[in-house]
Amino acid sequence: LRLTRVDLDALPSYVPGRSPADLARELGLPEAIKLASNEVPYGPLPGVVEAVTEAITTSHRYPDMGVVALRDALAERYGVDADRIATGCGSVALAEHLVRATCLPGDEVLYSWRSFEAYPIIVATSGATSVRVPNDAGHGHDLAAMAAAVTDRTRVIFVCNPNNPTGTALRRAELDRFLDAVPDDVLVVIDEAYREFVTDAEVPDGLDYLDRPNVAVLRTLSKAWGLAGLRMGWLVAQPVVAAAIRKVATPFSSSTAAQAGALAALTQVAEMERRCALVVAERDRVTEALRKFVPEVPTSQANFVWLPLGERAVAFGKACEARGVIVRPFAGDGVRVTIGTPAENDAFLAAAEAALA
Ligand code: PMP
Repeated sequence: LRLTRVDLDALPSYVPGRSPADLARELGLPEAIKLASNEVPYGPLPGVVEAVTEAITTSHRYPDMGVVALRDALAERYGVDADRIATGCGSVALAEHLVRATCLPGDEVLYSWRSFEAYPIIVATSGATSVRVPNDAGHGHDLAAMAAAVTDRTRVIFVCNPNNPTGTALRRAELDRFLDAVPDDVLVVIDEAYREFVTDAEVPDGLDYLDRPNVAVLRTLSKAWGLAGLRMGWLVAQPVVAAAIRKVATPFSSSTAAQAGALAALTQVAEMERRCALVVAERDRVTEALRKFVPEVPTSQANFVWLPLGERAVAFGKACEARGVIVRPFAGDGVRVTIGTPAENDAFLAAAEAALA
């Protein structure tokens, strides 16, 4: 029996952060602090729990497969036509659908590395081939090298802006130049999971590129909008691309609860922005504090910071865990630390100082 067309032993696994309950038990603490998955720490937005509770009274019925109300709400808020929008079970599912809709075995998907850890998994399971271009010296995308790596097999390019896990963001002029250089038949997916945390006015909004026929933008309700556990992501692209994605998607994968929660969250723009501002202020404080020990910490435009610790990454992660703080080490490369509440960040900084000083 052949279970899969991919080599399971070679396939990288998506590593979720360690369970805080587990760590707390191990350390004999009342609770551990989880700064490992880029969530916002302030709970669901006001009204979300009530909307979801109300919606699930109809959960013996299938959800609206057309996701009409939510697509209309997104269309209105972001000034795009609803027929250009598709939703999915997190934006990670939409990334997977995009690759599935575009790539045949042997086709190439290009992305910077290190970037979002789901990209290689998505590409491998689709039968396509990953082409990774190393990040530049500042830990961001090397767009010139990426443009040079395009071949006649390239079908999709992921541009992660800001980049997970390094937090770096591309500026408008460099992204313009890159998009001009990429052939029109290559789909450029601008993954903007962290868009709401961007404060640099030079970092372009991917939605500004939608007049280009080969651009798709990925957004999520998981981060700034506080719905990671409900699973709701969305994409905007040309109508033909959005329609294709709605077709290849697993039927009914935008659940009743996720649609209702997202609709309720979208009415809370001011509170979402207030929370993002708190996160951004803390991000900049944590960055400054870390630079005393690791001057090369890059400027982050997301809700996490990157410590380029190289071979020390795993040991640093363990040292933080020993003090009850879960961060996200990438062996041999660096550590990503999600911004939490001020108290959580203080606990992390105390652990970091003990490990780095
Ligand atoms: N893109 C990037 C860059 C991410 O970091 C993440 C979440 N870690 C996602 C997409 C997927 O988020 P979700 O599936 O929760 O929408």
